[in-house]
Amino acid sequence: MSTSFDVAIVGFGPTGATLANLCGKAGLRTVVYERSTLPYSQPRACHLDAEIARVFQGLGMEADLHRLLTVQHGMDYVDRDGNPLFTFEAFERPPMLGWHEDYVFVQPQLEAMLRTNLEWFPHVEVRLGTEAPPLDQLLAEASWVVACDGARSEIRQALGIRFHDLLYHQTWQVMDVVLHDVTVPTLPKEIHQICDPDRLGTYVPSHGAYRRWEFQLAEGEELDAWSVLARWGVNETNATLVRNSQYRFHALVAEQWRAGRVFLAGDAAHMMPPFMGQGMCSGIRDAVNIAWKLAAVKDGASPSLLESYESERRPHAEAVAQMSIEAGQTLARLAADPADLPVAATPDPTRWSRLPGLDLGGEFPVGHLLPQPNRLDDRLPAGWVWVAADENFESPDGLPVVVEPLATYGHHAVLVRPDRYIGEVRSITISRTPESVVTEM
Ligand SMILES: Cc1cc2nc3c(=O)[nH]c(=O)nc-3n(C[C@H](O)[C@H](O)[C@H](O)COP(=O)(O)OP(=O)(O)OC[C@H]3O[C@@H](n4cnc5c(N)ncnc54)[C@H](O)[C@@H]3O)c2cc1C
Repeated sequence: MSTSFDVAIVGFGPTGATLANLCGKAGLRTVVYERSTLPYSQPRACHLDAEIARVFQGLGMEADLHRLLTVQHGMDYVDRDGNPLFTFEAFERPPMLGWHEDYVFVQPQLEAMLRTNLEWFPHVEVRLGTEAPPLDQLLAEASWVVACDGARSEIRQALGIRFHDLLYHQTWQVMDVVLHDVTVPTLPKEIHQICDPDRLGTYVPSHGAYRRWEFQLAEGEELDAWSVLARWGVNETNATLVRNSQYRFHALVAEQWRAGRVFLAGDAAHMMPPFMGQGMCSGIRDAVNIAWKLAAVKDGASPSLLESYESERRPHAEAVAQMSIEAGQTLARLAADPADLPVAATPDPTRWSRLPGLDLGGEFPVGHLLPQPNRLDDRLPAGWVWVAADENFESPDGLPVVVEPLATYGHHAVLVRPDRYIGEVRSITISRTPESVVTEM
């Protein structure tokens, strides 16, 4: 098939912009359609995790990240007076993936970084202020189309793809303020899930002077922001209200992520309530998963590789959406009974790095992300690579070998995919748990 582009991306939000960068890095001729000219001005996502920071590192944006991200210090479920009921997890774990577990940021700043970075890739053409043409036209100009066109995806609708409904629909009011002086008033450093029987809420100490509150609403209700925020000492003299909007939180996952040469990614494929801060992160995982597979198929890999996009990503997105629902339901449970603590207060340290849908038939850690001690990624070539515990390991298939004993989970070597997930392991030498690997880093 002769087309002008390898990939046409519809939508230049965080999913589309990350995918455009990944396609650019992979050498794919790419066109992006975005109907607006500037990134959406109001921050929606404000949290991202280590895996996502690592993706941006791989795209050469590490220096920007140090400016745009703030390490997040933890998440407490608290009573209405701010007294801790339980801490969701230890955010201070050693950084297994080369980055801290959780960061806060301001979404328009992050999107601006992704857009600027595209200057490195002249073979990526961005058509801002341009409505995407109809699907048949997109398919005539590109080998593949990736719909990153958000929750109301017209492409998903045109394809007649429906959502599997995980049955979570609630209306919340989201208020963002910028403090005039970050020390006034004194606010918690941790994210608070506020288990107030009168009104469930979330507080997020975001990047820089940004602070966020979210409150559950009754049907038809609207809150006066300043009256609500007065309880935290926030008022018109010490803060500017930069956003005060209602959102309907849903948990929905598309029943099908691919139709022929068209793929869905990001909010076009899934939506989840924001209690775990994973909506955008999930879209970026989609972009990472599809990008290397498109590049591999262009380079001659079997087109059947593309079938694994949905089989790997859909179960993961569903699991994360379910976890987000549970994090929200925990608020209501603790508000009703502060003693009704969740059982699993100490989660698996590899929780986000696991792909439940990935079945390569291997033993642990197949399907997990490669750890990143000592800035390992900067030493890895692009593409498939063996990471070995010592120099005695000989590549069985001609793929390059990089020695880094702290990254092999006790195996002699692990075969790492282009997206840095582990695809195969070779000959166990030492038995170690993931926790001990984390501790050693
Ligand atoms: C209150 C709130 C808090 C959140 N907090 C977090 C968080 O902390 N962490 C997190 O990871 N996620 C969070 N999320 C979710 C996150 O904001 C979204 O998942 C993410 O922004 C979706 O990115 P996207 O690129 O898939 O879609 P979008 O950002 O919606 O981008 C879609 C783009 O496609 C364009 N487009 C659509 N149709 C066309 C067309 N026909 N032609 C041209 N252009 C088109 C649109 O203009 C838009 O720019 C939160 C969401 C909300 C609402």
